[in-house]
Amino acid sequence: MTPRLVASDHRLVVLEPDGSARALLNGRLQAQGYVVFATGSPAEAASVALAEPPDAVVARLLMPGISGVQLCHLLKAEAATAHVPVILLGDGYAPRGQFWAEQSGALYARSGATGELLRTIAHAIAAAPPGDGFFTMLGTVDVRDRIAAELDRRLFESMLAAEVRALAACESFGRLFDQLSQLTCRQLPYGWLALQSESGEHLGVHANPSTADVAIVAAQLALKLPTADVLQVLDEDARPLREDDKVWQADVHFGETVVGRLAMAADPSSAEANAVLQLMAGELGVPLRVATLVQATRRQARVDPLTELLNRRAFLDTMSGPEYAHRPYVVCMLDVDHFKRVNDTYGHATGDVVLRALGKVLSSRSATVGGIACRWGGEEFLLVAPGQATDGGFALGEALRAAVESLDLCTTDGNPLSISASIGVAAAGVNDTIEDVVNYADARLYEAKEGGRNQVRAA
Ligand code: GH3
Ligand code: MG
Ligand code: MG
Repeated sequence: MTPRLVASDHRLVVLEPDGSARALLNGRLQAQGYVVFATGSPAEAASVALAEPPDAVVARLLMPGISGVQLCHLLKAEAATAHVPVILLGDGYAPRGQFWAEQSGALYARSGATGELLRTIAHAIAAAPPGDGFFTMLGTVDVRDRIAAELDRRLFESMLAAEVRALAACESFGRLFDQLSQLTCRQLPYGWLALQSESGEHLGVHANPSTADVAIVAAQLALKLPTADVLQVLDEDARPLREDDKVWQADVHFGETVVGRLAMAADPSSAEANAVLQLMAGELGVPLRVATLVQATRRQARVDPLTELLNRRAFLDTMSGPEYAHRPYVVCMLDVDHFKRVNDTYGHATGDVVLRALGKVLSSRSATVGGIACRWGGEEFLLVAPGQATDGGFALGEALRAAVESLDLCTTDGNPLSISASIGVAAAGVNDTIEDVVNYADARLYEAKEGGRNQVRAA
C-alpha cells in the first residue's frame, strides 16, 4: 500500500544543530502538515521525545555531543519510544553512515535531499507499529545518564558476546563447556548450567557438588535427555540448587539449524538470567559447531568406525608416546580363523557382525588390563597390556581366545554362529620398538595358525 505523502498533524521531533538548516527543514516539514518540535540540542530532543513520544524523530547522524546514533539507541531501548521511527541524516552516500544508521535500527536519508526525506518520513510513520501509551514517561529525564547506562549495557553485551565467540578455539565439547561455565558463573549465580549439542550427542552440566545429583537429573529432564551420559563440571562456582529455581532455556542456532540447547536453573525473578542466557545462546552457534566438528573429525581420524577401536595409525602414535617408553608390556595379536569362509558363507554383513563383536571383546579386555586395543587391519586385532611379561601375556592371550570361542553370535539370518581366533603373544624387550614387538607377535601368530588354529603361542 502506498502511504499518503501528505501528513496530517503527525508530530515530529527534529534535531539539527545548524540553525539555518534547522529553519529550512522546519519550514518544509510544517508546510507538509507536520507538527514539528525542532531543536539544536540533543538532550532536549531526547527529553521531549521520551516525555511525549512523537510519530517520528529526525536527527543528524553525527554532531557534537550526543550523536544521532546514540540518540537512536536510547530511544530504541526505552519502552515508551521503542516503536518510534528514527531517521538519521548523513552527508551524501556515506556508506559508513548508512551502516551505523541501520545497525542502530534507524533509517538513513541524505541531508539536503528534502523530498527524499519527506518520503522516508511518510513511509516510516505508515509502517511503524502503534505505540503503547502506557509507557509514556512523565517528568524530566536525565538523558545523559540514560545514554551512559545504555552504552554501558551494550558494551557489556558486546564484550560477553566476544568472549563466547572466542570459545570457538576450544576444539572439543568438554573444553568448550568447561570454559563456558567459567564464563557464565561470573555473570550471575545459578543452581546449574547445562549445554547439549545437537541430537544429544554431548551433554554438559555444571553444578555445585552438594546438589549435583539432583541438578544432573533436573538438567537431563529439562533437555529431554533422561538417559544421556553427562560430562560433569562440579565445583563451588555454581551455587547449591534451590527448590524454587526456575529453568531458563534457549536454542543454539548455526544458521537455520538448531545445533544445541542451553539451559540454566536460576532465580525465578531474575530477568538478567534470561537475558544472559539468550545472549550466550545467540553467540554459541559457531563455537559449539566448530568444537563438535573438530572433535568428531579427530575421532574419525583415530577410530575405526566398524569396531570403534583405535585404528593402526592412532595405535602406533599412542605406543610411541611417553606412556609406553621404557615400560614393559606385551602385545597379543589376534587373527580370526577362516574369516574368509564366514564372509563367503553368510555374507559380508555377517562378517561385520563378527568384527563388531570382536571390537567389544577387545575393548573390554583392554579396559580390564589398563592397556589399549586396536584394529590392526581386516580381521586382525592387537591388545597391549602394560606391565606384563611373556607368562602374563600368554594367560591374557588364552583368556582372549576363550572369550572369542564362547561368543554367542548370530548370522544376519538369525542362525547361531561360532568362530575362533589364533593369537600370537610377544613381550617388549628394553630396546624394542612397537613395530619390533608387533613383528614378534605376528611370527607367533603364524605358528598358532600352523599349529592348527584356535590356539595361543607366546615367546
Ligand atoms: P586364516 O584362518 O588363515 O586367518 O584365514 P582367513 O580366511 O581368516 O584369512 P584371509 O586373510 O584369507 O581372509 C581375511 C578376510 O577378511 C578377507 C577379507 O574379505 C575379510 N575382511 C577384511 N576386512 C573386512 C571387513 O571389514 N568386513 C568383512 N566382512 N570382512 C573383511
Ligand atoms: Mg588375517
Ligand atoms: Mg584370519
